[in-house]
Amino acid sequence: MNYIFGPVNSRRLGRSLGIDLFPKKICNLDCVYCEVGPTAATVNRRAAYSPATAVMAEVADWCRQPELLDTVDVLTVTAKGEPTLHSDIGIILRYIKDTARKPVVVLTNGTTLNDETVRCDLMAADIVVPSLDAARPESFARVDRPAAGVDVWKVIEGLTLFSHAFSGLIWLEILLVRGMNDSPEDLDALTAALRMMRLDRIQLNTVVRPPADPAAHPLQAEELSACASRLGAELNLPVDVSFADQDVTNRRLSDDKVSVSPVSLSVALEEIQEIVQRRPCTAADIDRLFRLGGPGKVEQLLMPLVQAGILHIKVHEGTRYYTGPADRDCQEHV
Ligand code: SF4
Repeated sequence: MNYIFGPVNSRRLGRSLGIDLFPKKICNLDCVYCEVGPTAATVNRRAAYSPATAVMAEVADWCRQPELLDTVDVLTVTAKGEPTLHSDIGIILRYIKDTARKPVVVLTNGTTLNDETVRCDLMAADIVVPSLDAARPESFARVDRPAAGVDVWKVIEGLTLFSHAFSGLIWLEILLVRGMNDSPEDLDALTAALRMMRLDRIQLNTVVRPPADPAAHPLQAEELSACASRLGAELNLPVDVSFADQDVTNRRLSDDKVSVSPVSLSVALEEIQEIVQRRPCTAADIDRLFRLGGPGKVEQLLMPLVQAGILHIKVHEGTRYYTGPADRDCQEHV
């Protein structure tokens, strides 16, 4: 499977099958905290970066197996990068809905929602999880390092328009980085922007796993908690806070607890490679997912893959993380 990963259990979504539209990172942002790694060159153009037919064929194959399909609650469309840059995402979403007949979730950085076509494409989803890390241009530039042409005012306008047109659920994610987008002025501007939108809940995160830029540092738990209280009170919305990263499912749904049934070792090793190329994981994370006999045993099992260069190890804040292999080729398919 090139595009499908999981399924995994998520506290909020239930059992979720992941669909990753890109074989390598394609993004119009270069967020300092990105867990996929730095964006080699930001791209702000929609195109068929992977063949929609191939994605849909994998979905069809998977859904043809009722013993698998019956075990999932939702299908989550994501990407190593920004999935709405895929020009066929609307077709893919509608196909997934028709084929799986299950709720569909989309994770997006929200930057393309000022494009009416993207807003229409996402109408097929049931839950959209967009991000907005800052509402002041200087903070947005510092944290999200956008491609030329990505303007924070237009992002806010697009999110606002989409939020009022979309009939499904919108769970907005904010990631705060120490000294970059966490000032009182930043929170004031963010609150004012979010007040214009129709949102169902907010997820507040900070830097936990190895970031793209080592200069990205997390807030303390009590600081994040104070920001959450403030946002919740001012917006009258539920705000979930993640102090520790418990999720290895999808980019940034970090408060979801994950576990999977025991699987055979070879399947587990393949799935570990799929998962860590989307999000760095510790040996303990991997053991929680696959129950391989403890973190020590995981390290032992993964050592040959590390030695072969298939997996890499990154040390962040004194903790060792497994990360993915090099990107596969990614070309436009039209
Ligand atoms: S965090 Fe998401 S939006 Fe930011 S650079 Fe990484 S993939 Fe792109």
